[in-house]
Amino acid sequence: MTITDVRVIVTCPGRNFVLLKIVTDSGLYGVGDGTLNGRELAVAECLREHIAPLLIGRDADCIEDIWQYLFRGAYWRGGPVLNSALAAVDLALWDIKGKRAGLPVYSLLGGKTRQGALAYTHATGETFGEVADNARRFIEQGFKVVRCQCAIPGTVGTYGSGRGNAPTGEALPVEETWEPRPYLQTVPRLFAHLRETLGDEVELFHDVHERLTPIQAARLGKELEPFHLFFLEDPIRPEHKESFRVIRQHTTTPLAMGELFTSKWECLPLITEQLIDFIRCDLAHVGGITEARKIAAIAECYHVQTAWHGPPDISPITHAANVHLDLATPNFGVQEWVVHPPETADVIHGGPTFADGYLHVSDAPGLGCDIDEQAAAKYPYRRAYLPVSRRADGSVQDW
Ligand SMILES: [Mg+2]
Repeated sequence: MTITDVRVIVTCPGRNFVLLKIVTDSGLYGVGDGTLNGRELAVAECLREHIAPLLIGRDADCIEDIWQYLFRGAYWRGGPVLNSALAAVDLALWDIKGKRAGLPVYSLLGGKTRQGALAYTHATGETFGEVADNARRFIEQGFKVVRCQCAIPGTVGTYGSGRGNAPTGEALPVEETWEPRPYLQTVPRLFAHLRETLGDEVELFHDVHERLTPIQAARLGKELEPFHLFFLEDPIRPEHKESFRVIRQHTTTPLAMGELFTSKWECLPLITEQLIDFIRCDLAHVGGITEARKIAAIAECYHVQTAWHGPPDISPITHAANVHLDLATPNFGVQEWVVHPPETADVIHGGPTFADGYLHVSDAPGLGCDIDEQAAAKYPYRRAYLPVSRRADGSVQDW
């Protein structure tokens, strides 16, 4: 089954997506997603100019060999741009393999270990009351796990507190401000309020978004212990993994990390030292299902569960890949889930469905998704940046 055509589709049906269609001489084709939020065109050009010519004429069945060829064969390897491009190829090849076998991808990965993937979504707000109201709305929809973020007094904009980063047409990144002191004071109070108003049954947690130092994160984890968080997400910036030892020494709040990682090697010290409880890489940035299932297997040995990144800036194709892997993974923990803008469904058909707290994928062969290329052309790319955060003194801070 020889690859005959590779088409890169950049489209913005509410969000920018970098999609891939790999066509074979059998008539079967597969769809993939390599969207890298805010740097989309770097991936698109990598796919068009560097990777597509290498795929023509190859056997689409040889997923692992193509993965190794693209990762190691280029000499220069890794990083978010190259590994997002690799992810797009990988997802499309798994889709083709499933269609060829007449089986959904979860079946190729070993079959279902569970009937649905436990899902969480994001409750946000300017005030504690707004966050609680939004969380209650999601609980009423069936969510059993809710991520909760709140605006921080005295700062301008706060990650996750309401304002999204969908394309706005603004030429340059929006700038926000953030300070650790009001943040560290506010978050424990938020969760005290949420437990008081929502009770103890629902699982709640918080995303720090890499903004704290290790000792600040340790303090936050300790102060949140009475509220029994499902986990504390991405407490510190990703570069120095050993810093997690400081946090771990001080708190029993479970820790999750990984959406900025781009390979299994970056996950290793956190997993093998049992410094985290959930590994939450992004399938679209680590090189797809092929890399993520290896990460899951390594994590299984160390009692670490998976919580793959599932934000709105990756397409429903990656969300579908997440759930196929979730269903087949014994040490699956939870799956992040958001609803895309309505126009996304004009371009990408299929994707997971939510019911009573769990995500499901169809039993259709492959990933169960398709791309309408004519519809995609109606939604041209719109430049969009993630916001940039600064401290009160003007210095750059992790957003
Ligand atoms: Mg996050």
